[in-house]
Amino acid sequence: MFKTTNALILREVKYKEADKILTVLTPGDGKLTVRARGALRKSCRYGAACQALCYSELTLFGSRGRWSVNEAETVEQFLALRSDLALLALGSYFAEALEAVSDEDSPNPEILQLGLNSLYALSRGLYAPEHIKTAFELRLMCLAGFEPDVFACAVCGADKPGDALLSLRGGVLHCRGCVPEDRGVSLPLSAETLEAMRYIITAEPKRIFSFAMPAESEKQLAGVTQAYMSAQLERGFAALDYWKSVK
Ligand SMILES: [Zn+2]
Repeated sequence: MFKTTNALILREVKYKEADKILTVLTPGDGKLTVRARGALRKSCRYGAACQALCYSELTLFGSRGRWSVNEAETVEQFLALRSDLALLALGSYFAEALEAVSDEDSPNPEILQLGLNSLYALSRGLYAPEHIKTAFELRLMCLAGFEPDVFACAVCGADKPGDALLSLRGGVLHCRGCVPEDRGVSLPLSAETLEAMRYIITAEPKRIFSFAMPAESEKQLAGVTQAYMSAQLERGFAALDYWKSVK
């Protein structure tokens, strides 16, 4: 059985002599594991399209639940990522995060679109890498079912809480005076940070990066989205650690 699908290559692992096992994200099938025979050979006609962080059109052959690449053509290579170590590390973190929230047989085309938009913005230098990372992290959490409720205090309902705090585990907002005893770790949000979070959560998919804020608040926001994602997913990311060491 053959099928053709576009796919973002999230991860590649060498297998046997010259094969690769690819983890890819597709619009219609969610995450798939695919074998690319001979992809490591120089002569392989589809080798380039089977590299990590390529968006490619794959023609797959399926047999007994296993898929292998029959043909592959590059749709978008995000070339600039491949000549800059820090950008490549950040792009790899995006891929690692996309893989973490995606399942097989559970398509979420919006998550794929977020990944593609973020890699595009990164490779074209449309915004600072940290800015793209922040919007990516928060929006990814929303699409993966971990949207924080930052539109009103969880206790008193105030929609412009003074000295707001975000509970990392609960994903809810509190005024300083409303914070419950057992809240766990909470991080302070300035008015600008809160406004930016509301923007990222509600903006049209292609507009999530279109916000500006003072550098100090942007730094706070970056810390909040990263801490929130790691608290919600209860894990770290090797590519994120690597990015921090090379940026
Ligand atoms: Zn309150």
